[in-house]
Amino acid sequence: MLTLACDLLVVGGGPAGAAAAIAARRATPELRTVVLDRQTFPRDKACGDGLGPGVVARLADLDATAVVRGRRPVERLKIVAPSGAEVVGDLPAIGEAARGYVVPRAEFDDALLGRARDAGADVLTEIRVEGLASPGDASVRVTAGGLHGPVSIEARAVVAADGARSDVRRLLGVAYNDSRHTGVAIRAYVERPGGFEHMAFFFKRELLPAYGWVFPIDERGANVGVMIDAARFRRQERRLPDLLRDFLQSSGHASLKPERSRAYMLPFASYVPPLVHGRVALVGDAGSMINPFSGEGIAYGMAAGMEAARRAVRALRSGGAEPPFVGFDAWFRERFGEHFQASARAKRLAQRAWIADFGVRAARRRPEFVREGIELLVGEGTALSWRSLARLLVHGRS
Ligand SMILES: Cc1cc2nc3c(=O)[nH]c(=O)nc-3n(C[C@H](O)[C@H](O)[C@H](O)COP(=O)(O)OP(=O)(O)OC[C@H]3O[C@@H](n4cnc5c(N)ncnc54)[C@H](O)[C@@H]3O)c2cc1C
Repeated sequence: MLTLACDLLVVGGGPAGAAAAIAARRATPELRTVVLDRQTFPRDKACGDGLGPGVVARLADLDATAVVRGRRPVERLKIVAPSGAEVVGDLPAIGEAARGYVVPRAEFDDALLGRARDAGADVLTEIRVEGLASPGDASVRVTAGGLHGPVSIEARAVVAADGARSDVRRLLGVAYNDSRHTGVAIRAYVERPGGFEHMAFFFKRELLPAYGWVFPIDERGANVGVMIDAARFRRQERRLPDLLRDFLQSSGHASLKPERSRAYMLPFASYVPPLVHGRVALVGDAGSMINPFSGEGIAYGMAAGMEAARRAVRALRSGGAEPPFVGFDAWFRERFGEHFQASARAKRLAQRAWIADFGVRAARRRPEFVREGIELLVGEGTALSWRSLARLLVHGRS
């Protein structure tokens, strides 16, 4: 059996785990950070590949903007109502940097994990965490299975970033989100000469309560997909590939040939479980950190990974008497709780065709509604108060 000891163990080398490892190494190069992932990189991940302004900001914070260098920036987002009416608005700006990108996850995740390696983290792949003992003592013993046999790791703190079906979450006895707080989605890649101009969300009558996206990667192709709440998906006849086909047909993209389609689940942040369990913290999809309206999860997962890692290494550096993740759970809820609740409300409204039509009509008259809608989808907006709903009602009347 291979045995290892480290200060911070990060389980999962996706964006939340890689961001945690980079943040830890930059804050305390004298502490040992190990990242474990069960897969080999580069690896694919079902995703819309949309990197919103929050990701751009976090990359800048980690001094890792090289990961998106040379990619085509995306500046604007289009929302298409069931009636066919559309509004286009700017993605929120983050300083001088571009507002967003669409980068296939096979490439983005590999590049970000490479930055963690460059920053000095030990990255071990094809090793799957299988057991966890005594969270709450001075260290955590993690057992894992690798290509070359069992591995045992003694860590002073663990950031669990092992995705929507987190083994660590299960081993801690934390139930997965139920179907009211879970989504399912399918993505595929399409090619079209000239590509697509904007990121776009389509709320098509034929599809609701599911809705679709087209996210342009470059001048040739895009990521397209459909997302739906798991509870509603179960109640309808159509499977995910049928929904994708119907989406492409109803949105004027019937001639496109979807390739490499892949589906997965999304634990929505309309329910976030307790995040801190002794010396273990859940981040990213493992902690249900996906925006329930847009399905965006990378930015929130990176933010949480960075914050958890920085808190942990601060505590470990000061002698380790203090538990590593004190205050992390409260920080996350304070920072994003209201945003996620507003996004969940906005989604419930947008799933009704007449309300989605009404909202887009109002937004065509009042640019601030476009801005607020985009902030709910891909920013940190909290605009869906009763007051803003009342304003929407006044301005959406034809
Ligand atoms: C179809 C679809 C479309 C989406 N579109 C977008 C989008 O456009 N933009 C956006 O921001 N978000 C989107 N999301 C959400 C986004 O994909 C996730 O929020 C994001 O991947 C979360 O990152 P993560 O690092 O928490 O987990 P992941 O990216 O899932 O990484 C988890 C890692 O943990 C590893 N792992 C798992 N179990 C173990 C174990 N036991 N031991 C060791 N390693 C383990 C896995 O191999 C994996 O590499 C979409 C999701 C879906 C399903």
